[in-house]
Amino acid sequence: MDNRYFSQKVVEWYLKNKRNLPWRNTTDPYKVWLSEIILQQTRVEQGLPYYSLFIKKFPTVKALAAAPAQLVLRAWQGLGYYTRARNLHRCAHIVAQQLNGKFPDNYAALLTLPGIGNYTAAAIASICFNEPVAVVDGNVFRVLARVFGIYEPINSVSGKQRFNELANILIDKERPALFNQAIMEFGALHCTPRNPLCADCIFKKQCVAYAGILQTELPVKIKKKPARNRYFTYVVFRKGNFLFMNKRSAGDIWQSLYDFYLVEGRSQKLTLAWFKKHHTELAPLLTQVKQPGATRWYRHNLSHQKIFARFLVVNGVPDKKLGLRKFSLKTVENLPKPVLISRFLKDAQLL
Ligand code: SF4
Repeated sequence: MDNRYFSQKVVEWYLKNKRNLPWRNTTDPYKVWLSEIILQQTRVEQGLPYYSLFIKKFPTVKALAAAPAQLVLRAWQGLGYYTRARNLHRCAHIVAQQLNGKFPDNYAALLTLPGIGNYTAAAIASICFNEPVAVVDGNVFRVLARVFGIYEPINSVSGKQRFNELANILIDKERPALFNQAIMEFGALHCTPRNPLCADCIFKKQCVAYAGILQTELPVKIKKKPARNRYFTYVVFRKGNFLFMNKRSAGDIWQSLYDFYLVEGRSQKLTLAWFKKHHTELAPLLTQVKQPGATRWYRHNLSHQKIFARFLVVNGVPDKKLGLRKFSLKTVENLPKPVLISRFLKDAQLL
Protein backbone atom coordinates (compact mmCIF):
# COMPACT_ATOMS: atom_id res chain seq x y z
CA MET A 1 0.00 0.00 0.00
CA ASP A 2 1.18 3.49 -0.81
CA ASN A 3 2.34 5.31 2.35
CA ARG A 4 0.48 8.43 1.45
CA TYR A 5 -2.73 6.48 0.96
CA PHE A 6 -2.44 5.04 4.49
CA SER A 7 -1.89 8.41 6.15
CA GLN A 8 -4.58 10.17 4.12
CA LYS A 9 -7.15 7.49 4.86
CA VAL A 10 -6.49 7.37 8.56
CA VAL A 11 -6.56 11.17 8.91
CA GLU A 12 -9.82 11.35 6.94
CA TRP A 13 -11.30 8.71 9.22
CA TYR A 14 -10.12 10.65 12.28
CA LEU A 15 -11.66 13.92 11.21
CA LYS A 16 -15.04 12.18 10.92
CA ASN A 17 -14.88 9.95 13.99
CA LYS A 18 -12.65 11.52 16.66
CA ARG A 19 -13.83 11.97 20.21
CA ASN A 20 -13.91 15.43 21.64
CA LEU A 21 -11.36 15.20 24.46
CA PRO A 22 -10.14 18.18 26.48
CA TRP A 23 -6.45 17.69 25.63
CA ARG A 24 -7.28 17.68 21.92
CA ASN A 25 -8.27 21.35 22.00
CA THR A 26 -4.87 22.56 23.09
CA THR A 27 -1.26 22.68 22.01
CA ASP A 28 -0.10 23.64 25.49
CA PRO A 29 2.79 21.22 26.17
CA TYR A 30 1.91 21.09 29.89
CA LYS A 31 -1.60 19.82 29.17
CA VAL A 32 -0.51 17.44 26.42
CA TRP A 33 2.28 16.07 28.65
CA LEU A 34 -0.12 15.58 31.56
CA SER A 35 -2.69 13.78 29.41
CA GLU A 36 -0.08 11.50 27.86
CA ILE A 37 1.41 10.49 31.22
CA ILE A 38 -2.07 9.76 32.61
CA LEU A 39 -3.13 7.84 29.50
CA GLN A 40 -0.10 5.57 29.79
CA GLN A 41 -1.71 4.33 32.98
CA THR A 42 -5.32 3.97 32.04
CA ARG A 43 -8.00 4.13 29.39
CA VAL A 44 -9.45 7.43 28.23
CA GLU A 45 -12.72 7.09 30.20
CA GLN A 46 -10.90 6.44 33.46
CA GLY A 47 -8.17 8.98 32.73
CA LEU A 48 -10.53 11.90 32.10
CA PRO A 49 -11.41 12.62 35.76
CA TYR A 50 -7.72 12.42 36.73
CA TYR A 51 -6.79 14.86 33.98
CA SER A 52 -9.52 17.30 35.07
CA LEU A 53 -8.44 17.00 38.70
CA PHE A 54 -4.78 17.69 37.89
CA ILE A 55 -5.64 20.69 35.71
CA LYS A 56 -7.92 22.06 38.43
CA LYS A 57 -5.47 21.56 41.28
CA PHE A 58 -2.31 22.37 39.30
CA PRO A 59 -3.28 24.61 36.35
CA THR A 60 0.32 25.24 35.25
CA VAL A 61 3.62 23.40 35.38
CA LYS A 62 4.82 25.94 37.96
CA ALA A 63 1.80 25.19 40.16
CA LEU A 64 2.50 21.47 39.91
CA ALA A 65 6.16 22.00 40.78
CA ALA A 66 5.25 24.12 43.79
CA ALA A 67 2.80 21.53 45.20
CA PRO A 68 3.95 19.23 48.01
CA ALA A 69 4.79 15.71 46.82
CA GLN A 70 2.10 14.32 49.08
CA LEU A 71 -0.61 16.30 47.30
CA VAL A 72 0.57 15.10 43.90
CA LEU A 73 0.62 11.47 45.01
CA ARG A 74 -2.86 11.88 46.49
CA ALA A 75 -4.19 13.26 43.19
CA TRP A 76 -2.56 10.31 41.39
CA GLN A 77 -4.02 7.77 43.83
CA GLY A 78 -5.70 4.86 42.04
CA LEU A 79 -3.66 5.14 38.83
CA GLY A 80 -0.89 2.85 40.12
CA TYR A 81 2.82 2.95 39.09
CA TYR A 82 3.58 5.70 41.55
CA THR A 83 7.06 6.11 40.10
CA ARG A 84 5.31 7.86 37.22
CA ALA A 85 3.73 10.35 39.62
CA ARG A 86 7.10 11.02 41.26
CA ASN A 87 8.72 11.49 37.86
CA LEU A 88 5.88 13.79 36.86
CA HIS A 89 6.67 15.95 39.86
CA ARG A 90 10.44 15.83 39.24
CA CYS A 91 9.91 16.80 35.61
CA ALA A 92 7.66 19.70 36.65
CA HIS A 93 10.43 20.93 39.00
CA ILE A 94 13.00 20.92 36.21
CA VAL A 95 10.72 22.66 33.72
CA ALA A 96 9.57 25.24 36.27
CA GLN A 97 12.93 25.99 37.83
CA GLN A 98 15.55 25.34 35.17
CA LEU A 99 13.59 26.06 32.01
CA ASN A 100 11.54 28.98 33.25
CA GLY A 101 8.28 27.08 32.97
CA LYS A 102 8.73 26.21 29.29
CA PHE A 103 8.90 22.65 27.97
CA PRO A 104 11.63 22.04 25.36
CA ASP A 105 10.29 22.40 21.82
CA ASN A 106 11.80 19.30 20.22
CA TYR A 107 11.82 15.52 20.55
CA ALA A 108 15.51 15.09 21.47
CA ALA A 109 15.43 17.68 24.25
CA LEU A 110 12.12 16.41 25.63
CA LEU A 111 13.65 12.94 25.97
CA THR A 112 16.17 14.25 28.50
CA LEU A 113 13.43 15.02 31.05
CA PRO A 114 12.55 12.47 33.76
CA GLY A 115 9.60 10.22 32.96
CA ILE A 116 9.51 11.30 29.31
CA GLY A 117 10.22 8.37 27.01
CA ASN A 118 9.96 7.98 23.23
CA TYR A 119 6.19 7.87 23.27
CA THR A 120 5.58 11.00 25.34
CA ALA A 121 8.37 12.98 23.66
CA ALA A 122 6.93 12.14 20.24
CA ALA A 123 3.41 13.09 21.33
CA ILE A 124 4.48 16.50 22.71
CA ALA A 125 6.89 17.27 19.85
CA SER A 126 4.32 16.46 17.16
CA ILE A 127 1.17 17.85 18.78
CA CYS A 128 2.66 21.03 20.24
CA PHE A 129 5.58 21.78 17.90
CA ASN A 130 4.58 20.02 14.67
CA GLU A 131 7.74 17.89 14.57
CA PRO A 132 7.23 14.87 12.26
CA VAL A 133 8.05 12.12 14.73
CA ALA A 134 5.72 9.15 15.08
CA VAL A 135 4.01 8.16 18.31
CA VAL A 136 3.93 4.39 18.79
CA ASP A 137 1.60 3.22 21.54
CA GLY A 138 -0.37 -0.02 22.00
CA ASN A 139 -3.02 1.15 19.54
CA VAL A 140 -0.45 1.94 16.86
CA PHE A 141 1.29 -1.43 17.33
CA ARG A 142 -2.03 -3.19 16.83
CA VAL A 143 -3.06 -1.28 13.71
CA LEU A 144 0.32 -1.67 12.01
CA ALA A 145 0.72 -5.34 12.95
CA ARG A 146 -2.69 -6.16 11.48
CA VAL A 147 -2.69 -3.97 8.39
CA PHE A 148 0.87 -4.90 7.37
CA GLY A 149 0.89 -8.45 8.78
CA ILE A 150 3.87 -7.99 11.09
CA TYR A 151 4.57 -10.94 13.40
CA GLU A 152 7.53 -9.50 15.26
CA PRO A 153 6.61 -9.26 18.97
CA ILE A 154 5.64 -5.73 19.92
CA ASN A 155 7.45 -6.03 23.25
CA SER A 156 10.79 -7.19 21.80
CA VAL A 157 13.61 -4.73 21.10
CA SER A 158 13.71 -5.57 17.40
CA GLY A 159 9.91 -5.46 17.16
CA LYS A 160 9.74 -2.02 18.75
CA GLN A 161 12.37 -0.78 16.34
CA ARG A 162 10.57 -2.21 13.31
CA PHE A 163 7.21 -0.69 14.27
CA ASN A 164 8.85 2.60 15.08
CA GLU A 165 10.60 2.73 11.70
CA LEU A 166 7.40 1.89 9.85
CA ALA A 167 5.36 4.50 11.74
CA ASN A 168 8.01 7.10 10.91
CA ILE A 169 7.84 6.18 7.22
CA LEU A 170 4.03 6.40 7.20
CA ILE A 171 3.69 9.67 9.14
CA ASP A 172 2.24 12.62 7.28
CA LYS A 173 5.19 15.04 7.39
CA GLU A 174 2.98 18.09 6.93
CA ARG A 175 0.39 17.07 9.51
CA PRO A 176 2.24 14.96 12.10
CA ALA A 177 -0.06 15.95 14.98
CA LEU A 178 -3.16 14.91 13.06
CA PHE A 179 -1.58 11.68 11.83
CA ASN A 180 -0.40 10.60 15.29
CA GLN A 181 -3.73 11.30 16.91
CA ALA A 182 -5.56 9.68 14.00
CA ILE A 183 -3.74 6.35 14.11
CA MET A 184 -4.04 6.12 17.91
CA GLU A 185 -7.74 6.93 17.77
CA PHE A 186 -8.29 4.45 14.94
CA GLY A 187 -6.74 1.72 17.10
CA ALA A 188 -8.73 2.78 20.16
CA LEU A 189 -12.14 2.96 18.46
CA HIS A 190 -12.07 0.92 15.27
CA CYS A 191 -9.24 -1.62 15.12
CA THR A 192 -9.89 -2.63 18.71
CA PRO A 193 -8.15 -5.52 20.50
CA ARG A 194 -11.32 -7.62 20.46
CA ASN A 195 -14.00 -7.50 17.77
CA PRO A 196 -12.40 -4.96 15.41
CA LEU A 197 -14.90 -3.38 13.03
CA CYS A 198 -13.47 -5.03 9.93
CA ALA A 199 -16.65 -5.17 7.88
CA ASP A 200 -16.76 -1.40 7.82
CA CYS A 201 -13.04 -0.61 7.62
CA ILE A 202 -11.11 1.83 5.43
CA PHE A 203 -8.28 -0.73 5.13
CA LYS A 204 -10.45 -3.75 4.38
CA LYS A 205 -8.89 -4.23 0.94
CA GLN A 206 -5.29 -3.90 2.11
CA CYS A 207 -5.35 -5.40 5.60
CA VAL A 208 -3.31 -8.61 5.91
CA ALA A 209 -5.07 -9.66 9.13
CA TYR A 210 -8.49 -9.24 7.58
CA ALA A 211 -7.55 -11.22 4.47
CA GLY A 212 -6.13 -14.07 6.51
CA ILE A 213 -8.57 -13.87 9.48
CA LEU A 214 -5.57 -13.20 11.71
CA GLN A 215 -7.10 -10.47 13.88
CA THR A 216 -6.80 -12.55 17.05
CA GLU A 217 -3.20 -13.53 16.28
CA LEU A 218 -1.88 -10.04 15.62
CA PRO A 219 -0.19 -8.26 17.23
CA VAL A 220 2.16 -10.83 18.77
CA LYS A 221 3.32 -10.24 22.33
CA ILE A 222 5.89 -12.27 24.31
CA LYS A 223 4.24 -13.55 27.48
CA LYS A 224 5.46 -11.96 30.70
CA LYS A 225 6.66 -14.03 33.64
CA PRO A 226 3.72 -14.94 35.90
CA ALA A 227 3.05 -12.47 38.69
CA ARG A 228 4.63 -13.19 42.08
CA ASN A 229 2.28 -13.83 45.00
CA ARG A 230 2.87 -11.83 48.20
CA TYR A 231 1.08 -12.25 51.52
CA PHE A 232 0.68 -9.16 53.68
CA THR A 233 -0.67 -9.06 57.18
CA TYR A 234 -1.30 -5.49 58.25
CA VAL A 235 -1.58 -4.63 61.91
CA VAL A 236 -3.80 -1.56 62.14
CA PHE A 237 -3.16 0.33 65.37
CA ARG A 238 -6.12 2.46 66.35
CA LYS A 239 -6.57 4.73 69.36
CA GLY A 240 -9.92 6.51 69.37
CA ASN A 241 -10.09 8.66 66.26
CA PHE A 242 -6.44 8.17 65.43
CA LEU A 243 -4.64 5.65 63.27
CA PHE A 244 -0.93 4.87 63.24
CA MET A 245 0.44 4.81 59.72
CA ASN A 246 3.68 3.83 58.05
CA LYS A 247 5.26 5.89 55.25
CA ARG A 248 6.66 3.38 52.79
CA SER A 249 10.30 3.70 51.90
CA ALA A 250 12.20 3.17 48.64
CA GLY A 251 13.08 -0.26 47.29
CA ASP A 252 9.61 -1.79 47.14
CA ILE A 253 6.16 -1.04 45.74
CA TRP A 254 4.23 2.08 46.82
CA GLN A 255 7.20 4.26 47.73
CA SER A 256 6.15 7.32 49.81
CA LEU A 257 2.55 6.14 50.15
CA TYR A 258 1.05 5.40 53.55
CA ASP A 259 -0.02 2.00 54.83
CA PHE A 260 -0.02 0.26 58.22
CA TYR A 261 2.47 -1.85 60.11
CA LEU A 262 3.21 -4.69 57.73
CA VAL A 263 4.30 -8.25 58.34
CA GLU A 264 4.97 -10.16 55.16
CA GLY A 265 4.66 -13.94 55.23
CA ARG A 266 5.19 -16.75 52.77
CA SER A 267 1.61 -17.96 52.62
CA GLN A 268 -1.90 -17.30 53.84
CA LYS A 269 -1.40 -19.80 56.63
CA LEU A 270 0.36 -17.66 59.23
CA THR A 271 -1.06 -18.47 62.64
CA LEU A 272 -1.38 -16.24 65.64
CA ALA A 273 1.20 -18.42 67.41
CA TRP A 274 3.65 -17.73 64.58
CA PHE A 275 3.08 -14.01 64.95
CA LYS A 276 3.63 -14.07 68.69
CA LYS A 277 6.84 -16.02 68.28
CA HIS A 278 8.33 -14.02 65.42
CA HIS A 279 6.97 -10.58 66.22
CA THR A 280 7.37 -10.18 69.94
CA GLU A 281 6.86 -6.40 69.55
CA LEU A 282 3.23 -7.16 68.70
CA ALA A 283 2.60 -9.92 71.22
CA PRO A 284 0.86 -7.84 73.94
CA LEU A 285 -1.57 -6.29 71.46
CA LEU A 286 -2.23 -9.45 69.53
CA THR A 287 -4.01 -10.89 72.54
CA GLN A 288 -6.99 -8.81 71.33
CA VAL A 289 -7.01 -10.48 67.93
CA LYS A 290 -8.78 -13.65 67.03
CA GLN A 291 -6.98 -16.30 64.99
CA PRO A 292 -5.61 -14.30 62.01
CA GLY A 293 -6.71 -16.97 59.53
CA ALA A 294 -10.30 -16.05 60.28
CA THR A 295 -9.83 -12.53 58.91
CA ARG A 296 -10.88 -11.70 55.36
CA TRP A 297 -8.12 -11.73 52.74
CA TYR A 298 -8.12 -8.93 50.17
CA ARG A 299 -6.67 -9.49 46.76
CA HIS A 300 -4.95 -6.71 44.86
CA ASN A 301 -3.30 -7.19 41.46
CA LEU A 302 -0.29 -5.21 40.32
CA SER A 303 1.46 -5.76 36.99
CA HIS A 304 4.12 -8.11 38.41
CA GLN A 305 2.71 -9.02 41.79
CA LYS A 306 -0.47 -10.38 43.28
CA ILE A 307 -0.98 -9.07 46.77
CA PHE A 308 -3.05 -11.02 49.29
CA ALA A 309 -3.64 -8.87 52.35
CA ARG A 310 -5.49 -9.03 55.64
CA PHE A 311 -5.90 -6.42 58.34
CA LEU A 312 -5.78 -7.04 62.07
CA VAL A 313 -7.19 -4.05 63.92
CA VAL A 314 -5.87 -3.60 67.44
CA ASN A 315 -6.80 -0.92 69.93
CA GLY A 316 -3.65 0.55 71.27
CA VAL A 317 -0.55 2.64 70.72
CA PRO A 318 2.33 0.91 68.94
CA ASP A 319 5.85 0.73 70.28
CA LYS A 320 7.91 3.76 69.13
CA LYS A 321 10.44 1.34 67.62
CA LEU A 322 7.93 0.50 64.88
CA GLY A 323 8.38 4.00 63.48
CA LEU A 324 4.69 4.66 62.85
CA ARG A 325 3.12 8.12 62.78
CA LYS A 326 -0.16 9.10 64.36
CA PHE A 327 -2.86 10.70 62.17
CA SER A 328 -6.46 11.68 62.83
CA LEU A 329 -8.99 9.84 60.66
CA LYS A 330 -9.68 13.09 58.83
CA THR A 331 -6.00 13.51 57.95
CA VAL A 332 -5.74 9.87 56.88
CA GLU A 333 -8.34 10.57 54.23
CA ASN A 334 -6.00 13.07 52.58
CA LEU A 335 -2.84 11.00 52.78
CA PRO A 336 -1.66 9.30 49.57
CA LYS A 337 -2.43 5.61 50.03
CA PRO A 338 -2.43 2.44 47.93
CA VAL A 339 -5.93 1.63 46.67
CA LEU A 340 -5.81 -1.56 48.75
CA ILE A 341 -5.54 0.52 51.94
CA SER A 342 -8.39 2.81 50.88
CA ARG A 343 -10.56 -0.24 50.19
CA PHE A 344 -9.93 -1.60 53.66
CA LEU A 345 -10.55 1.79 55.32
CA LYS A 346 -13.88 2.11 53.52
CA ASP A 347 -14.92 -1.46 54.35
CA ALA A 348 -14.00 -0.90 58.00
CA GLN A 349 -15.96 2.39 57.90
CA LEU A 350 -12.91 4.30 59.03
CA LEU A 351 -13.18 6.76 56.13
S1 SF4 B 1 -9.72 -4.64 8.56
FE1 SF4 B 1 -10.02 -5.12 10.69
S2 SF4 B 1 -8.02 -5.76 11.45
FE2 SF4 B 1 -7.73 -4.69 9.50
S3 SF4 B 1 -7.31 -2.58 10.09
FE3 SF4 B 1 -9.49 -2.75 9.68
S4 SF4 B 1 -10.38 -3.15 11.69
FE4 SF4 B 1 -8.21 -3.57 11.86
